[in-house]
Amino acid sequence: MLRSIILAAARSARMEKLVATAPISRNIVSRYVAGTATEDALRVSRELVDNGLKVSLDYLGEDTFNTRQAEATRDEYLRLLSSLQADGLTPATEVSVKLSALGQRFDEEMSFRLVDEICSAAEAAGTAVTVDMEDHSVTDITLDAIHQLREKYPSTGAVLQSYLRRTEADCRELSGKGSRVRLCKGAYAEPESVAYQNRLDIDRSYVRCVNALMRGDGYPMLATHDPRLIEIGIDRATWFDRGPHSFEFQMLYGIRPEEQLRLAQDGYQVRVYVPYGDEWYGYLMRRLAERPANVAFFARSLRGKK
Ligand SMILES: Cc1cc2nc3c(=O)[nH]c(=O)nc-3n(C[C@H](O)[C@H](O)[C@H](O)COP(=O)(O)OP(=O)(O)OC[C@H]3O[C@@H](n4cnc5c(N)ncnc54)[C@H](O)[C@@H]3O)c2cc1C
Repeated sequence: MLRSIILAAARSARMEKLVATAPISRNIVSRYVAGTATEDALRVSRELVDNGLKVSLDYLGEDTFNTRQAEATRDEYLRLLSSLQADGLTPATEVSVKLSALGQRFDEEMSFRLVDEICSAAEAAGTAVTVDMEDHSVTDITLDAIHQLREKYPSTGAVLQSYLRRTEADCRELSGKGSRVRLCKGAYAEPESVAYQNRLDIDRSYVRCVNALMRGDGYPMLATHDPRLIEIGIDRATWFDRGPHSFEFQMLYGIRPEEQLRLAQDGYQVRVYVPYGDEWYGYLMRRLAERPANVAFFARSLRGKK
């Protein structure tokens, strides 16, 4: 219930204005977001890579409404990729891209052209792109775009969400040789017709999806902070005779940072998803929806208190 309210607030312009203009504690935003500038993204990537972690950088922006905004997002990714290469941060750092930020909702063809340019720049910089997955209304067109991108850039990563009833079948389909697939639970409010609603069903689906991906020949990227699912991932890798370099764990910047380091020190590959940019509002609200315990802290900070 609280989760749905927060996710609705994530799409409210009035709420966004209130939050963005409130004397919000810098701490709550900077806990989850690297900063607003390219330099912030580079600085945080350097710190993480020096600590033995890998990185996926996300330039925050969704609900792009015009071509100019979409092209500006493309330009930022191109700038970022050339800086990452110049700073020796590739291949340890890749980028994550949302097709909505490239205009998918109003000009699908343009969004494909722009993501193709980003993939080409990533390849030239010695790294790859993972295409984030958004709500279920765009699952098919996003997967179609990834299939096409992989013809030119085979390392393009896909994202599948275990809360969707269709995802176990998608995992089997996307588990072929070299296929990079990020498996997460899913972060949007989805109807019962397409998505499991309770945590147990979502977790059970996650386990079935881990099995499908680990059994295959692809490269599973297990994106979760859930301690039980991480243990199951390790167990399944052993069961399917996979070495620690044939899959990776992924977590969000600011969430369970000690666990990120512990897994890396134990010899697993761990990638941290690091968002940056001005458009942090929707991202922050989805993080709050995942952990309503953070809401009281957030509300106090909106009133100017710590
Ligand atoms: C690298 C990465 C990329 C992602 N990409 C996408 C995507 O493309 N599309 C999409 O729909 N979703 C994406 N997500 C979000 C994902 O779908 C979940 O919403 C999110 O990861 C929370 O699920 P969980 O598996 O961590 O499990 P949960 O059951 O939500 O959390 C498990 C435990 O993790 C800790 N935790 C989780 N969230 C928080 C938090 N916000 N603050 C503090 N502690 C927390 C708590 O200890 C909690 O008990 C991504 C997640 C990751 C890690």
